[in-house]
Parts: sequence; structure tokens; C-alpha cells
Amino acid sequence: MLAIERLSHSFRTGQEDTPVLHELSFRVEQGEMVALLGSSGSGKSTLLNLMAGLMKPTRGSISIAGQAIEKMSENRLAEFRRTHIGFIFQSYELIAHLTVRENVELPLVFQSVAASERKQRAMALLQQVGIGDKSDLFPSQLSGGQQQRVSIARSLITKPAIVFADEPTGNLDTKTEGEIIDLLIDLNENSGITFVIVTHEHEVARRTRRILQLRDGYLLEGNEQDGETG
Ligand code: ADP
Ligand code: MG
Repeated sequence: MLAIERLSHSFRTGQEDTPVLHELSFRVEQGEMVALLGSSGSGKSTLLNLMAGLMKPTRGSISIAGQAIEKMSENRLAEFRRTHIGFIFQSYELIAHLTVRENVELPLVFQSVAASERKQRAMALLQQVGIGDKSDLFPSQLSGGQQQRVSIARSLITKPAIVFADEPTGNLDTKTEGEIIDLLIDLNENSGITFVIVTHEHEVARRTRRILQLRDGYLLEGNEQDGETG
């Protein structure tokens, strides 16, 4: 589903190039749920933004569903992102003046899906994430955990190949964090959604099947937590 080959990235700051990611290679198979763990500044968000096609890498390749996204034109990539990639942000990024249902439908508006089908798909997803009764409310009328559920429903509405989440529980209390992780695990196990979830919480990472650990822009070896010990 996702293949990363010798991926490196540097940021240009003033006259200097600052390397942030160093020759990373790994794969994520369809239906996997992977935690990308690392302390603050280790390069997690940079890696996630590269994999989601939000930035171009300095070197290396990123393939999603067999397509090399770093080679795509801007227009092609924007279209590919809209149809194949879901993204969940720490701060939800909901639109305040749209209702919950309208927020979830929005990606389908850009795909010119008919209103009746948009509504039906949004309502089904809102039911699935446990807030079917909140569809006519506005984001500000919901708790943080409920807003993140809206954002999760929105990320799934286009039936993406893979969903990336950047610290999706970073703004939530411990109990709500657990509930959101339960939901993501349920979506992975019962709907087969492939997730890559950035976190700096070992507790969150412990609950996924597989951990990839970043330290100072390097992928640590031997950090798979199931299967072999070692
Ligand atoms: P994490 O998400 O693990 O906290 P980031 O990927 O945000 O880490 O950042 C990794 C490193 O890259 C940090 O040293 C950060 O300061 C630097 N960095 C991130 N974004 C930029 C940018 N747009 N310009 C310059 N440096 C950046
Ligand atoms: Mg980050």
C-alpha cells in the first residue's frame, strides 16, 4: 500500500540545508495499522507530510497503491490526494460555519458527488464513528473527542487507500484518547482501513500492531513489536 525507498529530506534555513530525515526505507501493507513513534523534533510530521503528498522530498521515493507520488505534477498529485489519501490533524481542522454533516461531505463536494449520495455516505460514517445524532450541530457545539470523530469520518468519506493521522489524540484527555484509539483500531480491524498514526505517546503506540520509531531523523531498526522478539 505504501513503499518508502531511501527517503531523505532537508529544510533550507537561510544559507544552509538542515537534514531532517535520513535515507528511510520501509513498507506498510494494506490493512496494517502502524504507529510512527518519536520524540518532539524527530521528524515525524515531516515524514507524514511527505507521505501524504503535502510536500516534495529532497531525495528518494514514496509510492502509494503502486504510484510514485513524488513524480506527479502538482495537479495530478492534488487529485491523487483528494481521492486516495485521508488525513487527520491534531487540531481537527473543521470548518466552523459548516455543520458536522457538511464538514464530512466536503471532500465529496470537490468530487461533484450528488447531494443525496453525499448525505447518505456522511450519515453512514457519522453513525459508524458514534456521533450519528450530532449531524446538524456545528463543531463548536461538540467536545474535542467528538470533533476528532467528525474529522475521522471526513478522512474516510472518499474511501481512501490509506489514512495518515498526526498526533490525533494530542489535544485530548487520557480517557478520550483511549476512546479515539479504540475507534481507529475498530476501523482498522473491521473495515480494513490502513492507518499510519504519528504519536509521541508510547501508550498509544503500544496499542497498534506495529511501531516504526524515529530518532533524530533516522528509523531505528528492530522496533517491530509483534512477531520475533529481537
Ligand atoms: P516532529 O513532528 O517529530 O516533532 P517535525 O517533523 O515537525 O518533528 O520536525 C523535525 C525537524 O525539522 C525539527 O528540527 C524542526 O525544527 C524542523 N522543521 C520542521 N518543519 C520545518 C520547516 N518548515 N522549516 C525548517 N525546519 C523545519
Ligand atoms: Mg509533529
